[in-house]
Amino acid sequence: MKSTPRRRALEAIASGHEPPPPRHLAADRLPEIFGSKVFNDAVQRQRLPKPVYQALRRTLDTGAELDPNIADAVASAMKDWAIEKGATHYTHWFQPMTGLTAEKHDAFLSPTLEGGAIQEFSGNELILGEPDASSFPSGGVRNTFEARGYTGWDPGSPAFLRDTAYGKTLTIPTVFVSWTGEALDTKTPLLRSCEAIDRQSRRVLGLLGDGKVTKITATIGPEQEYFLVDRMLYNLRPDLAHCGRTLLGAAPAKGQELEDHYFSLIPRRILDFMMDFEHELWALGVPLKTRHGEVAPHQFETAPVFESASMAIDHNMLTMEVLHDVAQRHGMNALVHEKPFARMNGSGKHLNWSLSTDTGDNLLSPGKTPAENQRFMLFLTAIVRAVDLHQDLLRASIAHAGNDHRLGANEAPPAILSVYLGTELQAVVDQLVAGVKPSDAMPPQVSDLQLGVTTLPQLPIDNSDRNRTSPFAFTGNKFEFRAVGSSQTTAFPTTVLNTIVAESLDHLANQIEGRLQGGNPTKVVDAVIAETLAEHKRILFTGDNYSDEWSAEAERRGLLNLRDTPSALAHFATPDNLALFAKYGVLSERETQSRSDVLYQAYLHRLRVEADTLTEMLQTQVLPAVLEFQGRLAGAIASTHSACPELDQSSAKRLLGEIAAGSQSLGSGIEELTQVIAQTPSGLAPAAEYVRDAIIHRMEALRVTSDHLETLVDDELWPLPKYRELLFAH
Ligand code: ADP
Ligand code: MG
Repeated sequence: MKSTPRRRALEAIASGHEPPPPRHLAADRLPEIFGSKVFNDAVQRQRLPKPVYQALRRTLDTGAELDPNIADAVASAMKDWAIEKGATHYTHWFQPMTGLTAEKHDAFLSPTLEGGAIQEFSGNELILGEPDASSFPSGGVRNTFEARGYTGWDPGSPAFLRDTAYGKTLTIPTVFVSWTGEALDTKTPLLRSCEAIDRQSRRVLGLLGDGKVTKITATIGPEQEYFLVDRMLYNLRPDLAHCGRTLLGAAPAKGQELEDHYFSLIPRRILDFMMDFEHELWALGVPLKTRHGEVAPHQFETAPVFESASMAIDHNMLTMEVLHDVAQRHGMNALVHEKPFARMNGSGKHLNWSLSTDTGDNLLSPGKTPAENQRFMLFLTAIVRAVDLHQDLLRASIAHAGNDHRLGANEAPPAILSVYLGTELQAVVDQLVAGVKPSDAMPPQVSDLQLGVTTLPQLPIDNSDRNRTSPFAFTGNKFEFRAVGSSQTTAFPTTVLNTIVAESLDHLANQIEGRLQGGNPTKVVDAVIAETLAEHKRILFTGDNYSDEWSAEAERRGLLNLRDTPSALAHFATPDNLALFAKYGVLSERETQSRSDVLYQAYLHRLRVEADTLTEMLQTQVLPAVLEFQGRLAGAIASTHSACPELDQSSAKRLLGEIAAGSQSLGSGIEELTQVIAQTPSGLAPAAEYVRDAIIHRMEALRVTSDHLETLVDDELWPLPKYRELLFAH
């Protein structure tokens, strides 16, 4: 057998894989590992002068303005801590509009006159960085002549150490803004939206007579799905390397039909990786909790304990980074693309979201008393209204080329947004809308589960059942936004969620205030809840979101169905949405407009890279293999004719005909695709629509031809690792 790169990779996998030596000892206890690389609250309390610590805490706990005079003391304590741990560098770590993180490192180094060096780090260096960084997308906010971008310390997210075997870097979470103060990142608007929802939630609580709460925090828990692929096979697939997904590949004989991967036994090599990955993230203070196999082969999930939105978003970015890093250490590559493999389930990032008070209450927990229940129903009503009124924004927040493969593909929620409340809560809402007094509105009776085995304990049924097909589901004490893509930063969807719910709370507070004069507050609030739910009940849906009936029904209800990124983006920077973001101080009109441009550009760029990669792979890898096989077949037919006349030639000729037709159609298809791409119109929206309408289906057609050829051409000649190898070899 000929030794090809593909064969050598498979042989290497077959000979087994030694895991790299563990970085943490099995004897290290979790509480000691957890947060050991973080300048967290415990370290701050211990190392900062007491007044400095207290001033910092005041800012973090109550949102009070940061006292600039404490910066020097914090910087000095941070530097001492980092240097004791072996750090030589520091970096301002930020999240530009690429959807990734960015950093520029500086050594603590200051040369002395005597030729030596001391390690310095001032308050100014902590607070402000000027990385320039003029090459990040700004959507026109920044012209290169005004290129200055500044990074500013975010004290709400603690600094941490990142290390290699050679040294450590103190990493300081920051925001990234232009010299005019406009946001150039995803973190600044997120923090602004957290303040907006805090303000409006407190206002509503005040109207309900709750004056004790001083801060309300949006909490999120993003569940991260991913695939793992052997590194040697990955390196032979330009599509995985450039696009994060396969652009070609015939379906394997065995896919996910047997449903034998979900929650299945985790293979040893993968478990070694997971332990290493989790240890590393625990040391960075990321509270990873759950791990399991997902639906598709080689697909897995990790889920953290929820945290404040800002922390959780930083931690999810770190999770994705460490995922890639540790996978490579274990000879694998992690894929966080929404659809790495056609005909297999794709990956999402369920965004669990709630609101919690500094007095320890979750505002989305149904209450035990009538007052608590009224509060719960009011917040729930605000959310239902927000999703109905701002379907366009919520849809735009998850608009992303990768996610287009997933939404509506019977594995993830459709592009239509709706809210699932669970049978119990839906029954309560139906009664309120029908005019039943809240005190009389009853959920259907739920009893313990009857298992029919007397030795098993009685299991209480969860107070909300599940609907895995819903894009936005209430799951007992939080909402789960299930349409977010696995590769996306959660910053933008969370920003949108916070903003639209803040708007809705503001609206309800106005309604209540307007009617309160002299009235009974409880009655007024009940009336506002019932009326608002009646007005927005079209967004509530308990059935199967994957069904065709739902698309038809949603259309009757007048719900938006924005099937792809260009359609969704067309509904993003509308006058209403520009005004909404500006009103709540989340994004100025120019900032929203610039984000729209950046999202369009990202879509175009991604598709362009995919089209170019596909063309190159077909031209330089697939076609040569096909032509080689075609040549061999033709040669064999010619030689057997004289050497072996009794051989039935018809099947060989039929195969040759099929191969020749395929290679011809590939050749002309590539040419046509190249021409069509060259005619892409200018202007972001027209270009995006053109790409969607003229390019995607041509790429798909080329794929179908190539995948068919893959099933015909001699396996030995096929240069690309096949699906069965990518998904089942380990
Ligand atoms: P479920 O089984 O209902 O999905 P889990 O407890 O397994 O709930 O949580 C799933 C995800 O939801 C986890 O990442 C978890 O941290 C997150 N989560 C739980 N409660 C909240 C909350 N109040 N706010 C935000 N996220 C939450
Ligand atoms: Mg899941």
